[in-house]
Amino acid sequence: MAIETFYDVMRRQGISRRSFLKFCSLTATTLGLSPAFVPKIAWAMENTPRTPVLWMHGLECTCCSESFIRSGNPLAKDVILSMISLDYDDTLMASAGFQAEACMEEAIAKYKGNYILAVEGNPPLNEDGMFCITGGKPFIEKLRHAAKHAKHVIAWGACASWGCVQAARPNPTRATPIHKVLDNPVIKVPGCPPIAEVMTGVITYMLTFGHPPELDRQGRPKMFYGQRNHDKCYRRAHFDAGEFVESWDDQGAREGYCLYKMGCKGPTTYNACSTIRWNGDTSWPVHSGHGCFGCSENGFWDKGSFYDRLTDIHAFGIDANANQIGGTAAAVVGGGVAAHAAVTAVVRARRNSKNKKQHDDHSGDNNA
Ligand code: SF4
Ligand code: SF4
Repeated sequence: MAIETFYDVMRRQGISRRSFLKFCSLTATTLGLSPAFVPKIAWAMENTPRTPVLWMHGLECTCCSESFIRSGNPLAKDVILSMISLDYDDTLMASAGFQAEACMEEAIAKYKGNYILAVEGNPPLNEDGMFCITGGKPFIEKLRHAAKHAKHVIAWGACASWGCVQAARPNPTRATPIHKVLDNPVIKVPGCPPIAEVMTGVITYMLTFGHPPELDRQGRPKMFYGQRNHDKCYRRAHFDAGEFVESWDDQGAREGYCLYKMGCKGPTTYNACSTIRWNGDTSWPVHSGHGCFGCSENGFWDKGSFYDRLTDIHAFGIDANANQIGGTAAAVVGGGVAAHAAVTAVVRARRNSKNKKQHDDHSGDNNA
């Protein structure tokens, strides 16, 4: 049986064509694309069969799934139930045990070479992989088996991308990031966890264009990991002015000064937290008074205390200037600041969507 398109599923769910086109328009904005791309997105959604996705879990804490299901724009339920065909996810699927494994084998055989393999967690390699057994086999076997026929492989979160805390020295299980054990190119979406809208944004892009977004040298989508949290931090003016929190709950903390001296790793962390923020645009760690500890960067778990001041960025001149006036540092660090259309657009789209929802709620408009 032919695989349904996203449009087929939306129509079956009673969504009007007008709402479908609105969705395409919102998707273009979310991805930082001009309105000229709306027809292309609509065409892809109407004509391309939904992409089968196999989502598997190695050594991890499931925080990536927890983050994903909270995506507000697009809603995770839209991505899971309509845009992709989630044929296997041992955490979310109803079946378990042998039935679940049979679903996976069936999906691999049916969609050979055409499915996305999304991986949460990593394989431990010590003692022949015995520290992570799923379906009666070491996870490494299951991972390699599914990756062999995958069209694309996504590494969700710091565990799959870099190793994360289970790979912390001395790493007794030899927990290993997936790009080191697979031959496939791996699209890394790091973070502990990654931001929900970044996860769904990457999938939406791939479904729309049929290929991954442009990646940086470390394999991360540039559209979401192209700038540092520091570049768009709302406390940046205090950094530039040399105004720092010196101890927790001092006057500077109450005034919302920069957290650099309290260990904030924003100046070396490439992520979209300061722009897209978390939990439906509610907040992010620096907003709640705690420094960024760099959870999207490789090795963050083994780099000493989260509260140690950065000492390895002398090239930017930050540490040398933090005790004096921040202006010089700002001039140098500020050179690296670049606005990024996609991230800004996600924020704008979500806020517009929120405003529109409030408007619709009030006007009682039902387009379905
Ligand atoms: S050091 Fe941290 S708190 Fe200060 S401006 Fe940069 S990201 Fe914001
Ligand atoms: S602010 Fe830093 S530590 Fe917190 S989620 Fe973002 S990248 Fe991770």
